[in-house]
Amino acid sequence: MRIKFSEKINKIIKNLALEAKNFGVKIYFVGGLARDVLMGINPCDIDILVEGNAIDFVKSLNFAQIKSQHLDFGTIKAQIEGIDIDFASTRVEIYPFPGCLPKVQKIGCNIKDDLIRRDFTINSVALEITPDLDFKIIDPYFGQKDIKERTLKVLHDKSYIDDPTRILRGLDFKLRFKGFDFSENDKKLIKNSLKTPNREHLSKDRVILTLNKLFSDKSRAEKAFCEFVDKEYYKILFDYFPASKSNIKKAFRIFTPENTAQVYVKYILQIGQNPSGEALKAQMSNSRLEIYKHFKNLPQEDICLYYALTLDKKALLYQRELKDIKLNIAGRDLLALGFSKGRIIGEILDKVLRKKLAKNSTIITFEDEIDYVRKTFIP
Ligand code: ATP
Repeated sequence: MRIKFSEKINKIIKNLALEAKNFGVKIYFVGGLARDVLMGINPCDIDILVEGNAIDFVKSLNFAQIKSQHLDFGTIKAQIEGIDIDFASTRVEIYPFPGCLPKVQKIGCNIKDDLIRRDFTINSVALEITPDLDFKIIDPYFGQKDIKERTLKVLHDKSYIDDPTRILRGLDFKLRFKGFDFSENDKKLIKNSLKTPNREHLSKDRVILTLNKLFSDKSRAEKAFCEFVDKEYYKILFDYFPASKSNIKKAFRIFTPENTAQVYVKYILQIGQNPSGEALKAQMSNSRLEIYKHFKNLPQEDICLYYALTLDKKALLYQRELKDIKLNIAGRDLLALGFSKGRIIGEILDKVLRKKLAKNSTIITFEDEIDYVRKTFIP
């Protein structure tokens, strides 16, 4: 099969294929890149799998600038003609305990043994890179059939137990690629794995990383959250999860934060660890100045999260009435009016701000503020 790359990439890949032949290794596109190509999606990043030791291979190239390497995993990042390329060695991995990070058992195994450690059959297809750029499809686990049938299937029945983040990765693929869904067998496997989740050795960091990826796309984040709750995927982390889908939906609608993942992931961790929202309410009076000062320096994501957890009306007031109010005058303007340096400057600025924050305030422009200072503080 052919892949539409730019002339420059074609030249690099061709050179790599020739070098690999001389070096005595086979090289492949795998994972997301192979899957995307087979689905007709143009690839963005170039990752190459070396059937053997990728570090030895890349070090043998005189046209590659090495950027970093990871001896334990046999991975190496290099730059070739200005393009960053990740190279990985084929490897066998094992899971000593359910949910923990995998251990590399062997580097440089055959391609079939590498492909079987993958998450889904759709990600277990390899495209062998040859100098004629006519990529040969290696598909021992029938990934092409599942791509065609838009089915998410793990490669063995213990897969979700070994690594529950695959449930979340699957959900991400399901929402990202139209028409995809878990196979009926996978739905059962997921349900079973969640019945008795084994969290003792769970790599929480990896779960959080995967959640961040799942919730990073604004257009899918809400759907992802609803399935996360409805299908009880939270059981990967917690037994009990009293989330309110409507509260978080409402918070997103009102506060429209840029970084959706940050809000959802913090919300999930907070609700799972300590579900009592009331206790999280910030202690502050009803003073508009105090409310303004409390929220002013917080990122929109934090205010959205706070509201989703507490439904505190003060956050709403800030968002709707106070957020965009800013003082136009600064200390230097007061000095120019004849005030002397010192605490008084801060006190006057605070008083002008308090006046501006008042409901239906008529102080809006720079001139209004100066006028107010003159009338109020200059005898
Ligand atoms: P995309 O980058 O388009 O989101 P991807 O599948 O390439 O998709 P990566 O997270 O970069 O995403 O993973 C690269 C490949 O590594 C996957 O295609 C898959 O084969 C393998 N992989 C990633 N995570 C896991 C996992 N938890 N278990 C098994 N294999 C995995």
